[in-house]
Amino acid sequence: MTQRTANLSIDDGAIERTCPIDLRRLPAVPRASDDAIRAAVAAARAAQPAWRERAFDDRAAALVRAAKSMLARRGEAMALVRDEIGKLEVEALFDEGIGHLDMLKQWIAVVRPAIARHKIRLNPVQLPGKRAYIDQIPRGVVGVIAPWNFPIAGLYRAVYPALLCGNAVVVKPSEYAPLTTQWFVDALAAELPDGLVAAVHGDGAQGAALIDAGIDACAFTGSPRTGHAVAVRCAERGIPSSVEMGGKDCAIVLEDCDRERTLAGLTHWALANVGQACGAIEVALIEEHVADEIVGRLAAAWQRLQLGPAPYADISPLANRRQYDLVIEHVADALAKGATLVCGGQATGEGLFYPPTLLDHCTEDMKIVRDETFGPVLAVVRVDGAADAIRRVNRARYGLGASIWTGDLARGEQLAARLDVGIASINNHSFTGAVVALPWTGTRETGFGVANSVHALPTFVRPKAVVIDRSAKPEAWWMPWDRSVWELGDLLSDLQLMKLGRAWKLPLLLQRRVKTIRSFFAR
Ligand code: NAD
Repeated sequence: MTQRTANLSIDDGAIERTCPIDLRRLPAVPRASDDAIRAAVAAARAAQPAWRERAFDDRAAALVRAAKSMLARRGEAMALVRDEIGKLEVEALFDEGIGHLDMLKQWIAVVRPAIARHKIRLNPVQLPGKRAYIDQIPRGVVGVIAPWNFPIAGLYRAVYPALLCGNAVVVKPSEYAPLTTQWFVDALAAELPDGLVAAVHGDGAQGAALIDAGIDACAFTGSPRTGHAVAVRCAERGIPSSVEMGGKDCAIVLEDCDRERTLAGLTHWALANVGQACGAIEVALIEEHVADEIVGRLAAAWQRLQLGPAPYADISPLANRRQYDLVIEHVADALAKGATLVCGGQATGEGLFYPPTLLDHCTEDMKIVRDETFGPVLAVVRVDGAADAIRRVNRARYGLGASIWTGDLARGEQLAARLDVGIASINNHSFTGAVVALPWTGTRETGFGVANSVHALPTFVRPKAVVIDRSAKPEAWWMPWDRSVWELGDLLSDLQLMKLGRAWKLPLLLQRRVKTIRSFFAR
């Protein structure tokens, strides 16, 4: 069987899928063969030169048309994401339906000045008759390997800047959300030259095949294990990669925090997308003497939250069986090692729903504190003040984000300066994932990738220096050399070493070399 989707022929070999809301089987999606992947990259390569030659505004306008069409048809994306990974109404709208145009406009504002020609001022004495500038050259075909948790929104940060910079793009969507991502790619493809953007489906094998198919750069988002493999494979092929890996964000809750905002903030950022976000709060480091109060009030609030599938429910199901099993495993491990279950902790038995779960008295030997859980679970670790909390954040495996919840903003800023993470927030968390001007990045096992902001652009462009020399005569210091060249070099070295206070020595120095200088310029 051969099927045609966004500029790509794909062959037999199916990805089996189940809807996490009711465990209904979804139609299998054919896997791309190696030949189909190579063909997609070749078609992208063929389309890219003409795209790169188009004016920036022209490229931006085509993408704006696509983004407006996606925004108008947002219901389609919401239905797909509901089926594939179980995002219910409000979550589906805010995560995957609402951002197409706004994120694109933010990217246009970041990319336009960043890739414009940059003139360099050259010293006219040292480098007479010369001028220079730096152009930003698109890499060519960018491969984007994506996770499942934000199957459209997670792509903005790679696909939009790559295309705006003048690249072609081939996306390898997650095997858990292939059709949601395909919808995004198809909407872009409808407004762009044939072959410029395409999706190739499959799992890790197809992700690896995409890297081997001759792409010029790779933007990867996913787990640390895969990220390391991707970085190595790209390095072996001599192409740049940006690897954005996991997170295990902590919230530091200080005794002077505003209770209402802190409780609502912890709730939202621990449970949004059912905790399946790299920037979810997974650990709350709470000052010991206020921990009873905060934990008690959080538990009361969490028990009022509504699990889906009712319309406008707060909590969607976990997206897939692998994730569901991992959450159960982490909670069991914590309880076996002495954590206290405050609320939740039992799967509902319907679909892949799992209730908001609060664990108190957690310790660093527990998986729930150490490893990424990616579920609706918050581990409370009681700490002995801010310094203790910061030490714990800085020695954790991951270093994506951390937040400080305090009524004293000045102190909050001082503490934030001591956090070894990529994104430090005070009285908020993670929202900057939707602020393109700010880098989304981390340290330690979160990886070295940068998504968003001008700092993300080296994955999509390389700098090229262009130099124009108006001089007619050969440079005096070019070959063939003689003693005068050596003497002049020697003089220039002495001049650099001369102390300012000894400037009176200058005429003497020059006088001694006057013959040398004359014969140099007579060359
Ligand atoms: P994953 O690593 O299992 O898969 C990510 C993608 O890589 C998928 O498309 C997968 O098919 C592909 N892949 C798997 N093996 C491959 C290989 N050997 N070569 C090339 N591609 C391969 O991750 P996931 O479970 O899909 O996503 C969840 C992870 O993503 C979490 O760890 C989460 O923290 C992370 N994530 C990080 C960020 C961030 O900005 N740091 C954002 C979103 C998600």
